[in-house]
Amino acid sequence: MLATLNPDVVILGAGIAGLWSLTALQQAGYTALLLENQQLGGTQTLASQGIIHGGTKYTLSGQLTNSAQSIKAMPAIWRNCLHGIGSLNLTPVQILSKSQHLWSTGQLGSSLITLLASHAMQSRVTSVAANNQYPEILQHPDFKGQVYCLDEPVLNIASLIHTLIDLTPNSHLQINPETGLDVKLISENSPYKFELTIDNGTNAPLKLTCKHLVLTAGIGNQALLTMLGLTKPVMQARPLHMIMLRGNLPSFYGHCLGVGTNPRLTITTHSLSATERVWYLGGQIAETGVKRSVESQITYAKNELAAVLPWLNLTNMRWATWRVERAEQRQPGAIRPDQPCVYTQNGVSVVWPTKLAFAPVVADKLLTSLNQEQIYPRSESAPSISVYTRLSQYDWPRPPLPKLPWESITEWN
Ligand SMILES: Cc1cc2nc3c(=O)[nH]c(=O)nc-3n(C[C@H](O)[C@H](O)[C@H](O)COP(=O)(O)OP(=O)(O)OC[C@H]3O[C@@H](n4cnc5c(N)ncnc54)[C@H](O)[C@@H]3O)c2cc1C
Repeated sequence: MLATLNPDVVILGAGIAGLWSLTALQQAGYTALLLENQQLGGTQTLASQGIIHGGTKYTLSGQLTNSAQSIKAMPAIWRNCLHGIGSLNLTPVQILSKSQHLWSTGQLGSSLITLLASHAMQSRVTSVAANNQYPEILQHPDFKGQVYCLDEPVLNIASLIHTLIDLTPNSHLQINPETGLDVKLISENSPYKFELTIDNGTNAPLKLTCKHLVLTAGIGNQALLTMLGLTKPVMQARPLHMIMLRGNLPSFYGHCLGVGTNPRLTITTHSLSATERVWYLGGQIAETGVKRSVESQITYAKNELAAVLPWLNLTNMRWATWRVERAEQRQPGAIRPDQPCVYTQNGVSVVWPTKLAFAPVVADKLLTSLNQEQIYPRSESAPSISVYTRLSQYDWPRPPLPKLPWESITEWN
């Protein structure tokens, strides 16, 4: 006979959207469980650069775009959490850098200088005038460009995921990617609308009934929408081809300003050992590199680094690339959405955060959706409290812990 658990909410997908929402819902008093068919930490989330954007890079066109407006508040919200005074306690998360740098290879155009000095940008960017204040890699005598400091932190994504996992014990269930999930609508009018049968290939299948389903499966949301017979919202996927180089590299978090509104290169640094670091390269190069093979993307990256940091010694570096797709709500012209998507219909919320930085907004919108559906947290005395204890008794396996791209790559060129 199948065992049955009755959480209020089941979340599908353990990237930042799923893990942050799980934590926020549990803290609000809901009983929530999360199902994952690969690894904890997600696909896009683990591939991300960990930058808590405040939207500055979206203002480089000279216009305060919708993207820039809506994301502006995010660094402060995250900083509160990182300092233990926000909605979630993220004090164990490792902050790789409190800020980043914007740099140019030569003199910036006057319009960009005016923009960076403008009132709108004053809270976001400060000019770094003295060479000895530059990041180490830009202190070279041949550097003739300009440097700005950007007040947006960069996080160690693995430590963020581990922190969220620790905040939500006995709540993460591994399911088989092929056969792990079957969802039935019990009744539109029943409080427990959905019955899920889950399987991990080892234990006897488990039944979950819940009042609300949250789809935070990234690119996997499309298949889940089809399974549930839902046609809205529609997804778009925008691919990236990121680059990694490893060796004796200095620590650097910076965006190289190019001619377009997207940074030519965005560099973040990740430690492998006391002497070896990875530089993870995104920005325009990852967008245009989608059509390049691994070899030509690496060659292109070598040429770009030689052009923008010619004094950087690239001998003895080892190289790899990482392909990943960004999953979002479809936009006209397949442009980047300005806002996170939380689309709720008949007990199902479909989520694409658009940016890691928007995770707190996603959780707030979900809590509002639950209220609108008149699903309220249960009182402390309710039997649901035992869902986590009962789950721990089934000895159901937890999805594997996160591996970052540079930990997953086995072949470096
Ligand atoms: C290369 C790159 C760099 C980025 N850099 C930044 C950055 O620096 N700052 C920023 O703010 N944003 C950044 N972003 C955007 C940000 O990473 C994403 O918006 C965010 O991580 C998406 O999180 P998610 O939880 O929706 O999806 P994901 O992280 O993709 O997680 C989805 C999870 O769902 C699981 N899943 C799929 N199907 C199922 C199923 N049927 N059942 C159960 N589970 C399922 C998957 O295995 C996965 O674990 C970047 C994105 C990319 C790709």
